[in-house]
Amino acid sequence: MSSQSTSETVAIIGGGPAGLRAAELISAAGISCVLYDSMPSVGRKFLVAGKSGLNLTKDEDLDTFISYYGGSHNGQFDLQRWASIIKEFDNKMIREWAEGLGITTFTANSGKVFPEAMKAAPLLRRWVHKLREQGVNFRMRHKLASIAPAEKEQGYKLTFTSPLDERTSYNHRYVVLAMGGASWPQTGSDGAWRDILDQQQVCYQTLQADNCGWMHPWNDEFLKIAEGKPLKNIHLSCGDQKVTGEVMITKYGLEGSAIYQIGRTLRSLPKAYIEIDLKPTFTHDQLVAKMGGKQHGLLREAKYRWKLSPQAMALIKHQYKHTNDVNLLATQIKACRIDLDSPRPIDEVISTSGGICWSELNEQLMLNKLPGIFACGEMIDWEAPTGGYLMQGCFASGTRVGKSIIQMSAEE
Ligand SMILES: Cc1cc2nc3c(=O)[nH]c(=O)nc-3n(C[C@H](O)[C@H](O)[C@H](O)COP(=O)(O)OP(=O)(O)OC[C@H]3O[C@@H](n4cnc5c(N)ncnc54)[C@H](O)[C@@H]3O)c2cc1C
Repeated sequence: MSSQSTSETVAIIGGGPAGLRAAELISAAGISCVLYDSMPSVGRKFLVAGKSGLNLTKDEDLDTFISYYGGSHNGQFDLQRWASIIKEFDNKMIREWAEGLGITTFTANSGKVFPEAMKAAPLLRRWVHKLREQGVNFRMRHKLASIAPAEKEQGYKLTFTSPLDERTSYNHRYVVLAMGGASWPQTGSDGAWRDILDQQQVCYQTLQADNCGWMHPWNDEFLKIAEGKPLKNIHLSCGDQKVTGEVMITKYGLEGSAIYQIGRTLRSLPKAYIEIDLKPTFTHDQLVAKMGGKQHGLLREAKYRWKLSPQAMALIKHQYKHTNDVNLLATQIKACRIDLDSPRPIDEVISTSGGICWSELNEQLMLNKLPGIFACGEMIDWEAPTGGYLMQGCFASGTRVGKSIIQMSAEE
């Protein structure tokens, strides 16, 4: 084991969007910094996000945009505090930033904003090039294992392990923790930082699967008709929450944006369930009237009279006993109940909820128990549905941390 003191003032741990953004600001201010990552290269989850086009943000009124964020109850998420972070680097600024790297963005019909090339790689390449030019040092294959106070100087001694399990330590005045959540661990975000925070008695909320599919056991007959098919233009409700959108029927249950949006509510229930309104544009009474007094073969008739898709009809057949009562059938169509077993395994979900509790962080996103150590990105206890909100939250919190370190080091 070698112990070394380095000249870089700031150590950034984690090369996702949050860490890269902090490095960008800090290095632009002329403060020396090094970015460590356990993987051979940075931005692996960012590149994975690029496979679906890299939804950077959403083009909508800022107050509406901010209202999509939340956090776990005990993590003491404070929307006002979070709003001040997002406003520091908002959904317009992120587009200007991409333009600054020569990447043009466009707004899709949904309001989601993507790079024109619908890829993350060109953006990441230019970003890393800019950081190198600004003097950021990259130390890859360095996995943070522990944090201790530096001996004889201000700051912290960070100990890293290499893939061959060699240990190396470096001292730094300031540290930025940007190690992400715990989904897609093959990208490097494995949530192992929880052990490090345990050693320091920094509290965090349990990391849980978010923006993910939920399990429900379908029978073979249903899957033959409905697997891989969407239920479109539906209303989906759970408790008090109601969302519009679509879900995809999969072998194991349900996926899709509508179910991602109600993840927090589903996780809060002792027994998760949803109710789907398969025909939200018609009232119950309108559906009954459209059946024109028919008393037999109602589901077959529903195909024409209610324009039900084959998968929607199969769903009703799967969930309920056959009925010739038109009132009952209309009730089932307006509120088709599906009990859900559990979310998909954390390894394969888009993001994780939970993370460092807000009570551990001050306004600058510095850990109260470890002055000089900051946190940003998905490892803090905030959450949001898909739609560009996640990326925006990482960029904005990375910006807050970058600015905080610049300010603190100027005051020293
Ligand atoms: C399939 C998929 C698609 C997505 N699409 C979108 C999208 O279109 N839009 C959107 O807004 N969001 C999307 N996301 C979510 C988004 O990618 C993440 O929220 C975001 O990358 C989190 O950024 P971060 O900087 O906090 O952490 P990460 O991007 O997870 O980066 C963390 C970094 O820390 C490193 N690290 C972890 N532990 C250590 C350690 N102990 N020592 C050293 N380094 C360590 C990791 O190797 C990694 O490089 C998607 C996610 C997935 C999985």
